[in-house]
Amino acid sequence: MTKLQFLGAAQTVTGSRHLLEVDGYRVLIDCGLFQGLKELRLRNWKSFPVNPASINAVILTHAHIDHTGYLPRLVREGFSGPVYATPASVELARILLPDSAMLQEEEAAYANRSGYTKHGPALPLYTTRDASAALKLIQSVKYGKRVQLGKRLSFEFMGAGHIIGSAFVNIDVKGVDGEIIRVLATGDIGRYDEPILNDPQVVDETDYLILESTYGDREHPDVDVKDQLAKVINDTAALGGHLLIPAFAVGRTQQLVYLLRELEDEKRIPILPVFVDSPMAVNATKLYLRHREDHDLDMEALVSANRNPLATHRFHLARTVQESKAVSAHQEPTIVISASGMATGGRILHHLRNRIRDERNTILFVGFQAEGTRGRRLVDGEKEIRMFGELIPVRARVEQIESLSAHGDWREILRWLSGFKRAPKHVFLVHGEPRAALALETKIRERFGWEVSIPSYLDEVVL
Ligand SMILES: [Zn+2]
Repeated sequence: MTKLQFLGAAQTVTGSRHLLEVDGYRVLIDCGLFQGLKELRLRNWKSFPVNPASINAVILTHAHIDHTGYLPRLVREGFSGPVYATPASVELARILLPDSAMLQEEEAAYANRSGYTKHGPALPLYTTRDASAALKLIQSVKYGKRVQLGKRLSFEFMGAGHIIGSAFVNIDVKGVDGEIIRVLATGDIGRYDEPILNDPQVVDETDYLILESTYGDREHPDVDVKDQLAKVINDTAALGGHLLIPAFAVGRTQQLVYLLRELEDEKRIPILPVFVDSPMAVNATKLYLRHREDHDLDMEALVSANRNPLATHRFHLARTVQESKAVSAHQEPTIVISASGMATGGRILHHLRNRIRDERNTILFVGFQAEGTRGRRLVDGEKEIRMFGELIPVRARVEQIESLSAHGDWREILRWLSGFKRAPKHVFLVHGEPRAALALETKIRERFGWEVSIPSYLDEVVL
């Protein structure tokens, strides 16, 4: 019997984990952490819905924490099988999982210091040691290489175009009489015509499709991101001000640097010192350059010609705290890219504290700003902001570019689905808030007439 169970990212966008079971052989597709609302985060602490020791293998679609961040806990609770991921995902997981573990440890230490825990000492969900134990189980599998798991299961990775190393998992289950049932899990689907990465790979058939729906109800605005960037940079430079860009260290930072370099090459912006201030971004940038299997043609042409597409003309990477402090001392206008993307923590806070009181400067947000974050309050126009226990007046201009996103919107998802030559038997919509998933469900029914459903947490179906 072949069964599929949804152990996360069901009517929500985090905690991606789907269990495929074929005659008792268990494969977990993704092993994500629940993030965001407290009722979701509490699920990370409950015992895993199936015994982790009974799972035979894990396959990861990509390295984002909402797809991988539970792995150290799964290993700690008894999972000891192989974990498969693409070469770039393996390297990215080596950066992101220890970082996630460190955050867990810091959170527990903070709870103990401030005494807000209810029972005994607070313990981290997992430690850096658990993260290294998990990383020891990871094996790298190239796109297009088929891997046999057990007697009846095999899979291959296909490019998803979402972040470096991101993949669709294409699984074949062989029936007793030789027929094949195909199951395809998209993980997160990327965008078309984006810098650096290839478009999502064309898929022309599957029997069961596990499809993400993050932007199932949204369209990315039809504006030229480079035009917007150029305007903000030119306006700020004309005032003699500094530009601060809070950005996630992996993916978004590399994309920004790529666009800045293009704008410089096209002489649409002045050549300013550009600082990327984040040790994680420095490591991630190297990884983006190295993994040529993920590069689109433009990126590949530049790399082949020995040009660095991920550096501007006056480019500086700040790794140490000293280097970071030196960035803020610059008098001539600069562009500083630093994490975190929602200004909830990280080195960007020090730069904000130094630059936010000057009306010549600009703070440019380039990603989604979740409710309750400092980034959201700034974008909403608050005139004072609390940082390091101080209430600081906001005099710098605050701008936002919303169309930079690593997820395809509903139009891009339908474009990808239109590559199918036959209808899947069933489409399961996951990784979307109920509104987004419902909107996409309707659109798929209208456009293709396929059978679609939105599973709930722990739902189980027999394929
Ligand atoms: Zn993702």
